[in-house]
Amino acid sequence: MRARLFPALLALLVLTGCAAAPAVPPQQQYQATFLTLFDTVTTIVGYADTEEDFQAQAQQIHDDLLEYHQLFDIYNEYGDLSNLKTVNDHAGIAPVAVDQRIIALLLDCKAYHELTGGAVNVGMGSVLSLWHTARTEGRDAPDRAKLPNDEALHTAQEHSCFDAVVIDEEKSTVFLRDPQQRLDVGAVAKGWSVERVCRAAPEGLLVSVGGNVCATGPKPTGNDWVIGIQSPDDVSSYLHTLNIKDGCVVTSGDYQRYYVVDGKPYHHIIDPQSGYPAARWRAVTVVGSDSGLADCLSTALFILPQEEGQQLLDRTGAVALWVTHDGTILYSPGFEHLIRT
Ligand code: ADP
Ligand code: MG
Repeated sequence: MRARLFPALLALLVLTGCAAAPAVPPQQQYQATFLTLFDTVTTIVGYADTEEDFQAQAQQIHDDLLEYHQLFDIYNEYGDLSNLKTVNDHAGIAPVAVDQRIIALLLDCKAYHELTGGAVNVGMGSVLSLWHTARTEGRDAPDRAKLPNDEALHTAQEHSCFDAVVIDEEKSTVFLRDPQQRLDVGAVAKGWSVERVCRAAPEGLLVSVGGNVCATGPKPTGNDWVIGIQSPDDVSSYLHTLNIKDGCVVTSGDYQRYYVVDGKPYHHIIDPQSGYPAARWRAVTVVGSDSGLADCLSTALFILPQEEGQQLLDRTGAVALWVTHDGTILYSPGFEHLIRT
């Protein structure tokens, strides 16, 4: 979606080792990797009788994800496709007729906005774009890295009201009434798309798009999937490995996309209240049954105090861990049942 690929974004690595070998392995395990989706690394692991069968399944998942990627892209155009860039380009001009999948995503974003008390607001694209530009320029030319203009940030905050986004389900149109408003669905698009493709995919697959991992059901071998939670300080080591039968694991962290100004790192998750990167946590991992909701929750919990985050978990049935700046790990009730190591 964005201009550059950062392979290091894979916050959760799939461990293929398993606790106990089945008596007769029914099928062989295969893996496919794609670098073409959502500006990150996609890995699909599954079991099939032949490599050909598996590759066909993996290709189908890739192709479905690619459609979501193009629909939700705010930076690139794809021929005649009306995507979120088209919606942004028509802010204050006219409603744009869009695919039903854009309508479905934005209706869920409305629910996420309400659920999180505004912490996850895909209507703050104008604020996020100032950070995106400053981060891209700062990474390209570290000597000249600078923060976005403070006044411009505050002006952009005034054009971030999600309620001003007009979603017409019947006509399948989206209109940004405010000419200065922009959408940016980066906080939820990967998880939401993974959820959609996993619902349609065969059982027994593991799909990982960046830090968004989703199992479409238990392994055919009967063993749990083993998912590693990357350490924020050392991408080659794990804070924990988790046993997951089905469901989703999503991580948001300050070590994924950031740039440095005057020796201080500035990352990509922005507190809508301040307009600046949220500074409370180093990383948050959420485990839940719906990958779109888990993606929303990981961003929200990264911004909110623990008690408010816990309230969101209580309301949604998800569990989480938070990593503090001194490396302490805090767990929500129930998380410990998932820990393997
Ligand atoms: P990642 O995309 O790296 O997995 P997140 O799911 O936490 O991490 O989403 C971060 C992305 O979401 C940012 O790159 C930005 O596009 C967008 N974003 C950042 N802060 C917010 C926010 N408060 N509300 C909505 N979107 C946000
Ligand atoms: Mg998220």
